[in-house]
Amino acid sequence: MAKIFCVANQKGGVGKTTTTVNLAAGLAKVGQRVLMVDLDPQGNATMGSGVDKRKLELTVYDVLLESASVREARTTSPKLIEAGCGYDILGANRELAGAEVELVEVERREKRLKQAMVEVDPDYDFILIDCPPSLSMLTLNGLCCAHGVIVPMQCEYFALEGLTDLVNTIKQVHANLNKDLAIIGLLRVMFDPRITLQQQVSDQLKSHFGEKVFNAVIPRNVRLAEAPSYGVPGVVFDPASKGAQAFVAFAQEMVERIERMTPGSNKI
Ligand code: ATP
Ligand code: MG
Repeated sequence: MAKIFCVANQKGGVGKTTTTVNLAAGLAKVGQRVLMVDLDPQGNATMGSGVDKRKLELTVYDVLLESASVREARTTSPKLIEAGCGYDILGANRELAGAEVELVEVERREKRLKQAMVEVDPDYDFILIDCPPSLSMLTLNGLCCAHGVIVPMQCEYFALEGLTDLVNTIKQVHANLNKDLAIIGLLRVMFDPRITLQQQVSDQLKSHFGEKVFNAVIPRNVRLAEAPSYGVPGVVFDPASKGAQAFVAFAQEMVERIERMTPGSNKI
């Protein structure tokens, strides 16, 4: 059975997409079968995986509206396969913004993605979902489908404030729609240890969330920011860079954490 994770934080530009594509590549590198689902109309995870969102005939939009299956709509990227980090991609583009409105009329609209994933579940070890920067119907579809949420966050003052809203949403989804859902962990990203405030927020996070804070820390690293313009994750673009190495370590930590997780033991 595939383990399904949402990468979510309603705050914009905190590193969700960078986390999703690099974790996907990192997991693929250690031999895991991975599907990356782009649930953001910006299509950044699609482009960042080397798939041109403008040329896609079928996307996650068609899957949500049931005009295509995941098997029909998924695609691959030759660059990733060549690098030995191949993962499948269920892409997105601007069309997806319309789904929000079109789903309003539909029954069980928050479960569309979950239903669609049943078919491909045996094909993968991991399904990673890149969520948009909002707590919208799209994000809700991701949360209803997932076993866990990975929350990338920058160690800044306002980051903690936003976290409360996200945790409350996850609790509500857990209580009403998806009993399997748990916060897998908080991932500190774009971290600069020289900045005292970041150290302080990091310490606060650890004292408040304990084990839920991943040991892996992703540093601020320009190679990670450069990679999307080459259509590959940083893990593929410059494997020797500090950012890439941190993501590979994170992928290994995820695999270990999942092995330790027992069904039904999920706590938020
Ligand atoms: P959105 O909310 O718009 O979807 P996001 O949360 O997905 O944004 P990203 O697109 O991953 O965030 O990152 C925002 C910007 O920060 C991008 O330009 C990305 O390249 C850059 N970035 C992300 N992580 C790092 C890092 N560790 N070091 C340096 N730059 C980074
Ligand atoms: Mg993004």
